[in-house]
Amino acid sequence: MHEIHEELDRSAEKAAPQVIAWRRHLHRHPELSNREVETARFVADHLRALGLDEVRTGIAGHGVVGVLRGGLPGPRTVALRADIDALPVRDLCGADFASEVVDAAYPGGPFPVSHACGHDCHTAMLMGAATVLAGARERLPGTVLFVFQPAEEGPPVTEEGGARAMVEAGAFAGPVPTMVFGMHVTPYPKGYVGYRVGNQYAASTLVRIVVTGKQVHGSTPWQGVDPMPAAGGIMTGIGQIYRQVSAFDPVTVTIGHVEDVGRFNIIGETVTLWGTVRCAVASDMAEVQRRLTTLAEHTAAAYNATAAVDYLQPVPPVHNSAEWVAAGLPTLRRVAGEERVVETGGTLGYDDVSEFIDRFGGLYVTLGVQDATLDAAGRPVPVPGGRGLVTNHNPHFYADDDTLVTGVRLHAQVAYAHLTGALTTSP
Ligand SMILES: [Zn+2]
Ligand SMILES: [Zn+2]
Repeated sequence: MHEIHEELDRSAEKAAPQVIAWRRHLHRHPELSNREVETARFVADHLRALGLDEVRTGIAGHGVVGVLRGGLPGPRTVALRADIDALPVRDLCGADFASEVVDAAYPGGPFPVSHACGHDCHTAMLMGAATVLAGARERLPGTVLFVFQPAEEGPPVTEEGGARAMVEAGAFAGPVPTMVFGMHVTPYPKGYVGYRVGNQYAASTLVRIVVTGKQVHGSTPWQGVDPMPAAGGIMTGIGQIYRQVSAFDPVTVTIGHVEDVGRFNIIGETVTLWGTVRCAVASDMAEVQRRLTTLAEHTAAAYNATAAVDYLQPVPPVHNSAEWVAAGLPTLRRVAGEERVVETGGTLGYDDVSEFIDRFGGLYVTLGVQDATLDAAGRPVPVPGGRGLVTNHNPHFYADDDTLVTGVRLHAQVAYAHLTGALTTSP
C-alpha cells in the first residue's frame, strides 16, 4: 500500500514540468464561461492520448469527462473536478505568460480575458493527475472520473451552463460517483491546504434590478421620471440589509455593474443593477432576497419609478461534512505535510462544485499559491520581498507554478485513498 503512495508522488514529480507548461499555455489562452472551445479540446486531446476508457465531450456546452476504469475490481468511483473557464478581467499578473486576449463577441463585451481566478491551474493540475493515475491504472480498484467543468463563473444570463447543467446533461449517469473532490487555488502560503468543516463557501445568487422611469430631455427632469437617483437610493439602502439579518452569519450584497441607457443630456428610461447576493448560511438567502426586493421596489416607488428584481443562477454553499473531513485529513496531511494542513475560516466566495458534492458526497479544499506566511493568529500575511497577497478576480491575481505539483498529488492520492476504501464515510 505504502509503495503506491510513493509511486504516485514520483509520477507527479515527473509530470510537473508538463503541468507547468500546460498551465502557462492555458493562462495565455483563456476563454470566458461557455466559450471554452479550445480549452476543452486541449483537455480532451490529452485524455485521449492517455488512452482513457472514455472521453466524453460537449457536456453542457464544453464540459469534458474522462473515464478511467482501474484494473482491479472495486465498488467505488471518484470524481476529480476542475473548472476551466476564465474571467472578463485584465491580466496584470506580471508573468511573461500573461494573457492579452480580448473577447469581442461575448455578450456585453468586448472584454479583456484572463485566468484571474486560477482555473488554468485547476485544469493543468487535473490533466497531470490524469497522467499519474492512468500510469497506475492496473492497480486502481475502481473508476476515476476526470471532470472538467465549464462556466463555473456563471454563463451569460441568457444561457444555461455550469455544474448543474452538467449534472442535468447526464455527466454522472454512469458510473455514479461515490465521492467528489475539488479544490481552489487561493491567496495563502504556497503549498498550504486549507479546509473547513461546515460551509467553506457561501450560497450565491445573481441579482438583476431593472429600475424603470420615463425618458426625457436632461434639462427637464420634472417632465419625466429619472431612474438614476432611484438606483442610487437602492444602492445606499443595500448597506442596511446587513443589519436586518443576524450579524453572526455574514451576508453580502454587491452591485458590481450598473448599466444605463442615458446620455449626458438624456435621462434614460432604465438603469439596470447587476450584482451578487452571498449568504454564509443558505437558509438566510430567502430572507435577504425578500428584503432586497422590498427595498428595491419601495425605493423606486419613492422616486415615482418602478423596480423589477430577478434572482438568477443560484448556487448552493460548498459544504464539508465533519465525516468527510475526518476521512480526508490523513491523506491531506501526507500530501502537504502535517503543519501545512490548516483549518480556515469560511468565505463568501462560491464554487458550484457544491452541485456535485451535495449529490454524491465528497470533499473540497483550498490550495495556497502565493508569497505568504501565517501570522501568530493563523492569518495569511505577505512575505517580505514577495509579490504580496492578491485575491482572486483582481487583475494582479497570481499563482506560482511551483505549487501545482502539490495539487496533482492531492488529486491522485485522494483518488487512490477513496478507491481503496481508506478515504470514505461509508464502509
Ligand atoms: Zn474560481
Ligand atoms: Zn472565481
